[in-house]
Amino acid sequence: MKTKGNIKMSDCELILTCPFFNDKEHYASSMVETDKSLYCRGEYTGCGRYIAFKAFERELISI
Ligand code: SF4
Repeated sequence: MKTKGNIKMSDCELILTCPFFNDKEHYASSMVETDKSLYCRGEYTGCGRYIAFKAFERELISI
């Protein structure tokens, strides 16, 4: 799934750099594309990666 030039307002803010979305973790499953449609391009606030990133970001800001 390509992203550049195809970003929507409802997309996850991490979509351009996320290794999962950009196939850098080499998952091979039809579920991957389903998850990308469900989370990356919609309900991203329910994604564990997104939640972990935001928690880590808050930790960094509070230092
Ligand atoms: S929803 Fe999760 S997997 Fe998808 S781009 Fe955002 S952080 Fe990555």
